[in-house]
Amino acid sequence: MNTKSQPRPVALVIHGGAGVIERDMLGAEDERAIHADLGKALDAGHAVLDRGGSALDAVEAAVRALEDSPRFNAGHGAVFDADGRHELDASVMEGHTRRAGAVAGVTSIRNPVSLARAVMEHSPHVLLVGAGAKDFADTRSDIEQVPNAYFDTPHRRRELEQAQARERADADAAENLKGKYFGTVGAVALDADGHIATATSTGGMTNKRWGRVGDTPLVGAGTWADERCGISGTGWGEFFIRCAVAHDIAARVAYRGDTLQAATDAVILGAVPDLGGDGGAIALDRDGNIVMSFNTSGMYRGWVRPDGTRGTAIFRE
Ligand code: ASP
Repeated sequence: MNTKSQPRPVALVIHGGAGVIERDMLGAEDERAIHADLGKALDAGHAVLDRGGSALDAVEAAVRALEDSPRFNAGHGAVFDADGRHELDASVMEGHTRRAGAVAGVTSIRNPVSLARAVMEHSPHVLLVGAGAKDFADTRSDIEQVPNAYFDTPHRRRELEQAQARERADADAAENLKGKYFGTVGAVALDADGHIATATSTGGMTNKRWGRVGDTPLVGAGTWADERCGISGTGWGEFFIRCAVAHDIAARVAYRGDTLQAATDAVILGAVPDLGGDGGAIALDRDGNIVMSFNTSGMYRGWVRPDGTRGTAIFRE
C-alpha cells in the first residue's frame, strides 16, 4: 500500500482593500484594470502554490504584485500622509511555525512585504519601525530601495488635497474617518503541505499624522496565521487594533469551534461596527474554506479555491 499521502489541494485569497467603493465612482476602464491587477496577483501567488511552493512564498508574491500596482494603497499608489509623503506598513505571518515579521513607517522600501519577511527570517525581532527598519534594510542587498516619490500617484495626491480641504472646512472631519480609506492589500494561502501564511501591506490612511501606525503591521490586529487559519484585514485601522480583529477571528475558530465564516462575520459584521469602525477581512482555513466578509459597500478581492475555481470581485454580488 502506498502510504505516501497525496499532495493536498491548494488555495489562495487576496484583497485590495475595503471601503466606500460605489459603481458610479469607478469608470468601466478603472473597473477592468482593477480586475486585471487582482488577476495578476492571483496568478503570481497561485503559480507558486501550483509548483509545490510554500504558502509564505505565495502570499509574498501576491502582495508584491498588488504593491506594484498603482491601483491599491500599498507600495506604488500608497496614500499620502499629512506632509505629502508616504509611510508604509506591512506584515507577514507563517501559521505552522507562528513566525512573524513586520515593518511600520518605512519610506523607501519598494516592496514592504519583502522587508517584513526579511525581519522574520533574518532578524531576531518581529516589528521594526522607521529609521531602524531602514538601517536593517540597508544590510539586505535583496531589498530594493526607492525615492519616496516613487510611491506618488496623481489620484492619491487629489485624495490628500480633498481630505485637507475637508479638514479646513470642518475640523471634525479629521476625526471621522469612516469609509475614508481603502486599498490596503493582503493575501492568505494554503499550500500543498497544509501550511497557511498571511501577508498584509498598506500606505495607511490619507492625511495621517504623527507617525500614525494602523493595524496592518500589528500581528493579531491586521494579520494572523496559525495552524488552523489565516486572516488579513482592511479597514479603519484604529478599530481593527482595538478589536484585535485577526486574532479574535482565529480565537473563535480555535476556542469555540466556530466555522471560519461564522467567526469572521461575528467580528467584521458585529464587533467592529458595534464599536463604530468599518472594513473587511479575508480568511482561509486548512480545509481550503475561503471567507471574504465586509461591512462596507465594496472590497476588492480575488480567490482560487481548492477545486481550481477562481474569480475577482469588487462590489456585493
Ligand atoms: N487598515 C489600514 C490602516 O488603518 C487601512 C486600510 O485598510 O485601507 O492603516
